[in-house]
Amino acid sequence: MRAVAQSSPTLNKRVPHNPLPADFLLSRQGHMNPIDIVIIGAGPSGLACAIEAKKHGLSSLTIDQGSVADAIRRFPINMTFFSTPELLEIGGVPFLSSGFRPTRVECVCYYQMVAKHLDLPLKQQTLVTGLRKVTEGFEVSTKDSSFLARNVVLATGYFDTPNRFDVPGCDLPKVQRYYTEPYSYVGRDVAVVGGKNSAVETALDLFRAGARVTLIHRGGKLSDGVKYWILPDIENRVKAGEVRGLFETTVRNIKPGSIVVEGQHNEEILNEAVFVMIGYQPDAKLLKQLGVNIDDSSLAPIHDSSSMQTNVAGVYVAGSLAAGKYNNKVFIENGRMHGKSIVESVLRSR
Ligand SMILES: Cc1cc2nc3c(=O)[nH]c(=O)nc-3n(C[C@H](O)[C@H](O)[C@H](O)COP(=O)(O)OP(=O)(O)OC[C@H]3O[C@@H](n4cnc5c(N)ncnc54)[C@H](O)[C@@H]3O)c2cc1C
Repeated sequence: MRAVAQSSPTLNKRVPHNPLPADFLLSRQGHMNPIDIVIIGAGPSGLACAIEAKKHGLSSLTIDQGSVADAIRRFPINMTFFSTPELLEIGGVPFLSSGFRPTRVECVCYYQMVAKHLDLPLKQQTLVTGLRKVTEGFEVSTKDSSFLARNVVLATGYFDTPNRFDVPGCDLPKVQRYYTEPYSYVGRDVAVVGGKNSAVETALDLFRAGARVTLIHRGGKLSDGVKYWILPDIENRVKAGEVRGLFETTVRNIKPGSIVVEGQHNEEILNEAVFVMIGYQPDAKLLKQLGVNIDDSSLAPIHDSSSMQTNVAGVYVAGSLAAGKYNNKVFIENGRMHGKSIVESVLRSR
């Protein structure tokens, strides 16, 4: 056994993964070669853009605050995608899943494998903190370094900024804006706020694990957008009283051991955890630093949908960020197409 291990190159050698070309770094003393495209965000849309750049001989660097597909990595651990795998593929790399629809784990592994297989230049665990127009293009700043880019693509998604929920007690530790798993809530009183897919899926997952669930929704019924194979499930659970559904009802106050609701139902309910599943919206901070115009009502960066270029030449948006608060309009299936339009535009502008 030992002989095999010692002679195996894969076991004994540490192969550097996607080493960063040294001349990509904008050193503190001065700058080197500009990168053709710096992509912020290594989600499916950012990766698809990096793949297109590589295909056309453009240099690129994709920077992510976490790992590849980091937003998806943070989704509920037991979740299954609604898309079938071929609709999530990028770079022509086949995506096979064990079931009809892929799981979160399969999806994260697929995107990480594609990035590695195609040897995409990446800088992970690096938050982009600033963007600035300079003579040669754009300066992309992180905590420790800067990069010089001829073009910048923002593919930062929306998952980092939960929609506002300003209710007294909303800062209590039991109030959560992300749902990962149900197992610590078994036998406990929990509330889920919201009426769309994520609220319904969270309520069902908690119920199935054995939590006592109250679903609180300000609307009179659940959203028409709830997946067709989930809607009858939650409706039947509510009808049977297995999940308590409070409709046309809002949360007025959250206390350490209870919540107060008002509307169709006015009462104080025993409660140990509140999952506020009312969606997320993109952060426009980096875009604004470059002077990109944001549409006031949709919060979408104003851009040309055929090239994905914003009002600032050389600044592009990709993926769900492009849709602003209507992020259910751009998802992986269509956001993965943006890279092609962007790279075509970059090539035209050279
Ligand atoms: C529960 C759930 C189920 C879903 N199911 C499906 C489905 O079945 N099919 C489908 O097509 N879509 C689905 N979606 C939507 C889909 O996940 C998103 O549309 C998709 O992830 C968006 O891809 P993206 O590349 O635009 O952004 P993201 O995947 O959100 O990636 C953005 C990346 O940017 C990084 N980032 C953000 N800010 C910075 C910064 N300042 N510096 C560095 N990095 C940064 C983040 O870490 C992240 O990795 C689902 C979403 C949810 C929440």
